[in-house]
Amino acid sequence: MALEAIAGLKKLLRCARSEKVELEGAAATKVNQMLTELTAKSALDPLARLQAGFQHFKKENYEKNPALYEELSQGQTPKFMVFACSDSRVCPSHILNFQPGEAFMVRNIASMVPPYDQKKYSGVGAAIEYAVIHLKVENILVIGHSCCGGIKGLMSIPDDGTIQSDFIEEWVNICKVAKAKVRIECKDLDFGEQCSHLEKEAVNVSLGNLLTYPFVREGVEKKTLSLKGGHYDFVKGAFKLWNLDFNLSPCLSL
Ligand SMILES: [Zn+2]
Repeated sequence: MALEAIAGLKKLLRCARSEKVELEGAAATKVNQMLTELTAKSALDPLARLQAGFQHFKKENYEKNPALYEELSQGQTPKFMVFACSDSRVCPSHILNFQPGEAFMVRNIASMVPPYDQKKYSGVGAAIEYAVIHLKVENILVIGHSCCGGIKGLMSIPDDGTIQSDFIEEWVNICKVAKAKVRIECKDLDFGEQCSHLEKEAVNVSLGNLLTYPFVREGVEKKTLSLKGGHYDFVKGAFKLWNLDFNLSPCLSL
């Protein structure tokens, strides 16, 4: 309700502006005050935020696309499997405008793909197996991003290998080979620039790790499956995309 009320008040202000109607001073102050209070309430009340979020989706998306949701009720045939970071700023559905049914997704710290290991990484392995064998996705896209905390964490692990967290450092160490490469090739750059390079090199390690899954390798060899790396820079508003060739020159800048 709070979000709907906020949208209503904003519309009222917009209409007043477009009609060049000056709200009376006291009225304008009151509307702005209500807007501020409702925005604060919606931000503070998680239940209201979730209710409003779903109502918005249902009204603006679900009820406007009955054919799509009827089709999706029969099953899914996504063309993409996407690995993305858990970071709240980099949701692939937002940045690449994926609609429901288009992308089968795994999100984790620093969007890493571990090598094939049935005992250690069965959650990721199950997702890849399902996507490739059962859904027959045609593309697997691994997306790194700017200012990635997981990548900074990997870059910050002490050289003596001292582990200080329960899970994070062991997880990001999946891409320690990329860190070693960046340390050598970018030794003259500062920490931030090294992290920026590592964001892309880690994607390449993940693409290589994907090939350790027999069903992925088979799909790539038969050309029924394509592996792609991506990097989303939310500071510059840019997206780079490249194919599995371990070459950082982008094939496409979006
Ligand atoms: Zn991240």
